[in-house]
Amino acid sequence: MASLERDVPAYAAVKVWRPHTAEEAWRLKRQFGAAARYAAGGTWLRTRWESGAAMMPLHLISLEQIADMRGVQQIELASIGEPQSSFLRIGAITSLAQLMESPLVTGVAPLLQEAARSIAAPSIRQLATVGGNVLTRSGDLIPALAALDAQLVLCTGSGANGGRHSGGYERQPLIEWLAASGNDSDSSVVVAVDIAAEPRSKPYWFRKIGRRESFSPSVITAAGTFGIDATGRLDDVRIVVSGTGMPAVRLYDAETAAEQGAYGMALYAAVRAGVPSVSDDFAGSAYRRMAAANMIASELDAAVRSIAAVGEVSADG
Ligand SMILES: Cc1cc2nc3c(=O)[nH]c(=O)nc-3n(C[C@H](O)[C@H](O)[C@H](O)COP(=O)(O)OP(=O)(O)OC[C@H]3O[C@@H](n4cnc5c(N)ncnc54)[C@H](O)[C@@H]3O)c2cc1C
Repeated sequence: MASLERDVPAYAAVKVWRPHTAEEAWRLKRQFGAAARYAAGGTWLRTRWESGAAMMPLHLISLEQIADMRGVQQIELASIGEPQSSFLRIGAITSLAQLMESPLVTGVAPLLQEAARSIAAPSIRQLATVGGNVLTRSGDLIPALAALDAQLVLCTGSGANGGRHSGGYERQPLIEWLAASGNDSDSSVVVAVDIAAEPRSKPYWFRKIGRRESFSPSVITAAGTFGIDATGRLDDVRIVVSGTGMPAVRLYDAETAAEQGAYGMALYAAVRAGVPSVSDDFAGSAYRRMAAANMIASELDAAVRSIAAVGEVSADG
């Protein structure tokens, strides 16, 4: 068989482990190292194996039995003495379908539901998980999560790296973790994603350009949130972009330009300068930058117009 000739384990040769806790999963990964891989919904892994882009591991550590890692709950931080008042904890093996149906997410972070709706088809969203999407490192949820200042809850076994939680768990800002860790030798289990629960959702936008209109990997995906200050200007702007094969980045200079009221060429230039230079067979880096700049400029323009329209209605009324 071709797969055996290439030393790729056949499905039957793969040992599947089904731990019941994140710590147990982490210990298995440490034990088997590069020969082991975590699996959640398996939708991304399966396409990689079937296309030959990656080899099946000898040990598959399925996370599906870890009940604590599924579902969405609201947690009051005051009870454990942290600065934020309240946050949503989205378990890493929560499926995209569950995310889309969660009333808690609708109330606090509908941006995530819009992003999830852009991913694959309903049948895949039943299996595909939030954590798996993040760990593909180019999932379409990432810009939306990062625009909401999401923090990852990680089981690192040792609790090292200055983590704020003892006993092998730590929280890290998603965008920083992706930039700093980012390779498959990392044994951390992503246990959950935390989002600050504000009284109501901030204004947001989400745009994705794929190779086809739907059911297609992203060429460029962008998401943002913004506030409105007392004078009616944009403030607290977040803009994050990513794409297949392109790391997610926050566009800090573009955020500053928008907060300073520079919505035209200055914003356009800041976006183009901030988008990483990545080309593949489907899109060159110049195209990605131009597409990102057009999307973001048009979304912020729409935001400013909507603020102006609300101001006019209030003045009239
Ligand atoms: C037809 C099709 C269309 C698709 N379209 C899109 C799309 O439009 N947008 C998009 O973003 N994605 C798309 N995908 C990719 C994929 O379905 C999603 O990204 C999905 O959310 C991945 O989740 P999963 O649970 O299936 O991940 P898995 O395949 O189980 O795992 C993905 C990676 O994450 C690691 N992992 C998973 N969970 C954890 C965890 N908790 N801790 C540590 N590591 C973990 C795995 O080891 C693996 O490296 C598509 C896939 C298919 C088959």
